[in-house]
Amino acid sequence: MDTSVSIHSLERYLGDLALENQWKFTPPKSKSGKRILIIGAGPSGISAAYHLTKLGHDVSIFEAGPIPGGMMNFGIPAYRLPRNILQAEIQRIMDLGIELRLNYKVTNILQEKTEGDFDAVFIAIGAHISKKTDIPARDAGKVLDAVSFLREVELGNSPKIGRRVAIYGGGNTAMDAARTAKRLGAEEALIIYRRDRDHMPAHEFEADEAISEGIKIHWLRTIKNIDESALTIEVMDIVDGKPIPTGKFETLEADAVILALGQETETDFMKAIPGIEFKHDGTVIVGKNMMTGHEGIFAGGDMVPGERTVTIATGHGKKAAKNIDAWLRNTEFNKPASNPVIKADKLHVWYKTFADTKLQEHLSPEQATLSFDEIVGGYSHDEALYESQRCLSCGNCFECDGCFGACPEDAIIKLGPGKRYMYNYTLCTGCAVCAEQCPCHAIEMIADNSIK
Ligand SMILES: Cc1cc2nc3c(=O)[nH]c(=O)nc-3n(C[C@H](O)[C@H](O)[C@H](O)COP(=O)(O)OP(=O)(O)OC[C@H]3O[C@@H](n4cnc5c(N)ncnc54)[C@H](O)[C@@H]3O)c2cc1C
Repeated sequence: MDTSVSIHSLERYLGDLALENQWKFTPPKSKSGKRILIIGAGPSGISAAYHLTKLGHDVSIFEAGPIPGGMMNFGIPAYRLPRNILQAEIQRIMDLGIELRLNYKVTNILQEKTEGDFDAVFIAIGAHISKKTDIPARDAGKVLDAVSFLREVELGNSPKIGRRVAIYGGGNTAMDAARTAKRLGAEEALIIYRRDRDHMPAHEFEADEAISEGIKIHWLRTIKNIDESALTIEVMDIVDGKPIPTGKFETLEADAVILALGQETETDFMKAIPGIEFKHDGTVIVGKNMMTGHEGIFAGGDMVPGERTVTIATGHGKKAAKNIDAWLRNTEFNKPASNPVIKADKLHVWYKTFADTKLQEHLSPEQATLSFDEIVGGYSHDEALYESQRCLSCGNCFECDGCFGACPEDAIIKLGPGKRYMYNYTLCTGCAVCAEQCPCHAIEMIADNSIK
């Protein structure tokens, strides 16, 4: 009706409130006696650990790195995801009683499963190997890969990048590498990308933020050669979304080149496991229940084909947990059907709102580039209330009692706070008054074919 509710800002507000007030997750009521091994403490592994623990299973996570979080810690820069918040969120989950073994890289999954007496395994090792390119470079020391660059910065070993840095690629990693270079003191950070803005994989807002911080983007350009600080660049054309070389060349000076050409997953050590199949890009093939071709071994997150985001990885962890739980009980997990999507034309709200979403405070680009401090602020209590009150609860009953009051036959029974209503169909005449007044279209009238 006006603008969408900023759900992520409200979730963030609640997350911050939970940390502030030290809210704890409720532990499971009973234990299953089953043991699950999770390999990798990124968002996918941690999400699976949370759901499996809540379902009563004993969970151990084996993590190769020195700290949990995966790419949330070593990829996404601190100015977008502050480390104190991230680690506190993870700790809340670990406090459920999850075993976390750090600095432990798994190389033989079947052996770990047998020796640890695990009933099932969920692998979530992400995609950490930077894709290579064959650009001839005289001084390879000047060429870094973006993932290693961001990781070293995170570990406090920022590499020397000089005054002028070129970043090669058009995804979010390229934007993050450029913005990080700027924060490390590079006077100029320029992104070189072979397509145009309409065809870049980075989010629009990421590119906008990067540009506002003074990052320059050279669209339709590829690097052909790196000779000390001189880069030979070829101008490209775009035909049907594909970059085509034009034969026109330029030169550019850069003290360092950061390659951000995407990541591959390190799955070679899984090749010996019977039944597991891989796609040509090295990702692991899983079924709709997230199980690999090997019974009892499940996988998710960046290491399986699909979109690579924290949201998807977290969702995979939950989906795998539900399916592992069902598999352990010799049943199948069937996701309950979602309510149909209700758009504004189906609502019967008795008021109209024309209120814009409450925007969060942002640091100015000048302030932002001075440090790794978080750029986007959170809501205050009042702002969070304002924003949540804009929610029209489309398709979801919020117990306004409108139907209860409207029904002429007393066919609607209140079940108590949070439990909504029951309908007595013997008393119901199908007059539809309840549905016609329901502000959020949570009641659907269905033809009763038994009535002739
Ligand atoms: C620079 C960058 C910026 C990004 N920005 C965003 C963003 O803004 N929003 C967004 O949604 N997504 C973003 N992403 C993507 C997001 O971070 C990933 O999609 C997500 O972290 C994947 O989660 P995962 O659990 O599958 O893997 P990961 O987060 O990669 O975690 C895998 C974990 O497994 C561990 N591991 C690997 N091998 C082994 C082994 N053999 N034994 C034990 N442990 C092992 C690793 O150390 C790691 O901790 C970004 C990624 C990068 C690189």
